[in-house]
Amino acid sequence: MHGYDKTTPLHDKPGNDTGHPAIEFRNVTKLYGQFAAVSDLSLNVARGEFLTILGPSGSGKTTTLMLLAGFEAPNEGDIRIYGKSVSSVPSYRRDQGIVFQSYALFPHLNVRRNLEFPLEMRGVKAGERAARVDRILDRVHLSDLGYRMPSQLSGGQQQRVALARALIADPPILLLDEPLGALDRNLREQMQGEIKGLHKEFGITTVCVTHDQEEALTLSDRIVVMRAGRIEQTDSPEALYDRPISRFVASFLGEANIFEHTHFIVESDATRPARSVAMIRPERICISPDDGSTRADSDQRQSVIGTVDDMIYAGPLRKYHVRVGSDLVIVREHVASGQLVFRPGDVVRIDWLRSDVRFVAP
Ligand code: ATP
Repeated sequence: MHGYDKTTPLHDKPGNDTGHPAIEFRNVTKLYGQFAAVSDLSLNVARGEFLTILGPSGSGKTTTLMLLAGFEAPNEGDIRIYGKSVSSVPSYRRDQGIVFQSYALFPHLNVRRNLEFPLEMRGVKAGERAARVDRILDRVHLSDLGYRMPSQLSGGQQQRVALARALIADPPILLLDEPLGALDRNLREQMQGEIKGLHKEFGITTVCVTHDQEEALTLSDRIVVMRAGRIEQTDSPEALYDRPISRFVASFLGEANIFEHTHFIVESDATRPARSVAMIRPERICISPDDGSTRADSDQRQSVIGTVDDMIYAGPLRKYHVRVGSDLVIVREHVASGQLVFRPGDVVRIDWLRSDVRFVAP
């Protein structure tokens, strides 16, 4: 469903009756020489979905997006959009809006002319072009800046224009390549809200590449975590964070305590699968003074005594490193009024719910 200008579509929208996903990667491989930047990648993106590709540098995120945009061609496999192979469709005919990290606005055209460009390419008449530009400028809160040149805009404003330009022709698919990478933190958060709002309003199928985990968690319906050209895990943000399948995903997305041979977690749990490590998120561990009592563990909770090694204050959060034997356990708690603060050397009890321990592939 497209929220923008439903009455006067620029082109035939892909029918909703075909039952195909918006985007399909079928066993796609992309080689650079002998090196596989993307390996046997299969992935479906549903209509209207916001899917983010996340992964460390060099894992193949951008290559995957460039294959979808048509700037690169796969060596093997097929990419389908609404059920039709696009292997032989050049990038400019794929009808996708694209936003890059470096805004890529035409520097010699003012904002309005930048926005009109994709409409001109599609043969839209001047009157309708102006009306569409007015509407989209209003939508991205830039109505007053239509006659400015890109160099007279802030980074955030330029990125808004880039987003507006990607959306103005009402494409069925939007591709975002590190769209907020060049912005500072506050502006990034503001723009995340903006992108989320636009996605909801336009209902546009969106594929975003980022290495910003927070951005991925905030914006996405689903996240794909890539590792060395392959998909490591695809899931909703909650599932990915709460139930990572591997140490790689657990450590890449957020902070994780990983224990390989720890007596105090692993041996107590008979459900541990073979060849796995125990993982618990730092915010799932509670910290309290060691009151000297010999509190027994229960079926639900487990506890252990340790010594504070370090305390890091980070605004709303406080992070402790607690030494337990040869292990260093990270504990993270939200700062609250009246809370006890522990210092290096303090003896503390840390405890957690057994059900918060995950066993993940090493
Ligand atoms: P980043 O987060 O750093 O942008 P990425 O996950 O987007 O990384 P890609 O840009 O997709 O990674 O690159 C994947 C791998 O393919 C990297 O090892 C990269 O060096 C290699 N690669 C990408 N483009 C080319 C090219 N044109 N020629 C040779 N190798 C390439």
